[in-house]
Amino acid sequence: MQITEIIEQARREGRTRFAFELLPPLKGDGTAGVFSAIDPLMEFGPAYINVTYHREDVKYVERGNGLLEKRIVRRRPGTVGISAAIMKRYGVEAVPHLICGGLSRYDIEDALIDLDFLGVNNVLALRGDNLRGEHSFAPHPQGHAHACDLVAQIADMNAGIFVDGEVQPCHHSRFCIGVAGYPEKHAESPNPESDMLYLKRKVDAGASYIVTQMSFDNARIFDFIRRCREAGITVPVIPGIKPLSTKAHLTVLPQVFHVDLPQELVAEASGCPDNAAVREVGVRWAVRQVRELREAGIPVVHFYTMGKTDNVVKIIREAL
Ligand code: FAD
Repeated sequence: MQITEIIEQARREGRTRFAFELLPPLKGDGTAGVFSAIDPLMEFGPAYINVTYHREDVKYVERGNGLLEKRIVRRRPGTVGISAAIMKRYGVEAVPHLICGGLSRYDIEDALIDLDFLGVNNVLALRGDNLRGEHSFAPHPQGHAHACDLVAQIADMNAGIFVDGEVQPCHHSRFCIGVAGYPEKHAESPNPESDMLYLKRKVDAGASYIVTQMSFDNARIFDFIRRCREAGITVPVIPGIKPLSTKAHLTVLPQVFHVDLPQELVAEASGCPDNAAVREVGVRWAVRQVRELREAGIPVVHFYTMGKTDNVVKIIREAL
């Protein structure tokens, strides 16, 4: 089933459903960790499950003579496989993320062909971030510089057009494509208007829905949806929620994800004696957010779980 159909169905039924974003296992780990994160979520009938994509990383290895050797490693491969495994085990749609970073158009095409053969018909198309240590995003020489070009490649494949313009009229994938949107602006954008222009370009290239970067402030999410509509973007916007769970998040989340944390939340979390208390503050904050999003008729809320779901279970139980 396509994600847009799931969203539409929830909207028709006047329900708010939940989607959960998980990470593929670390290299060498099996599927057990991912499954044990998903198991407790099944009581909520997940709308679908997103699986992140992790580009290559840089690792420095001691050579023993005072020299360091730079190695390129992949710590969390397996997005395609674990997505198919989730669908098989739970009968829930999986949405693998696909990125431009580190991949050629040919690599991307291979991944899409595998997904199509596995019956995975949904993808979230992203640019990805810089390789660690790089100052700015450098596309693969045979790859894409922006997510809109990745969206166009997937949409082309849906029309039977493969890389290099090869046309294969016999084969038609039917990927439903989601993209990222930033209520608080993407960090590299000079201004919100420019960011919105490029978001529209992704939709015009073939994206059918938008998932937002995490935001702790519903007012910003609602304002973003309003600005999307003003810009002529009519596709569904799925708000992204991340429960605050450690004191370190107070500095790490703004640094890594370029989002603001409301002062009321910062004050409450800063006053906590330990991380267990911060986790409770994060649960209460997210419950308020989810309730308000439900009241506003949002059909699907996306949870950034980062592989930990006990707090998400609490949030949904309390919010419903
Ligand atoms: P783009 O849409 O390409 O935008 C990047 C920047 O370029 C923006 O500032 C935009 O305004 C600008 N821009 C866009 N198009 C153009 C153009 N044609 N010309 C000039 N400027 C342009 N990262 C991962 O590595 N793996 C993941 O699994 C992952 N999952 C994510 C899930 C969600 C829901 C979100 C919100 C983010 C996720 N990310 C992930 C992070 C994402 O890859 C980064 O935020 C990245 O920096 C931007 O990705 P994008 O797809 O928004 O890029």
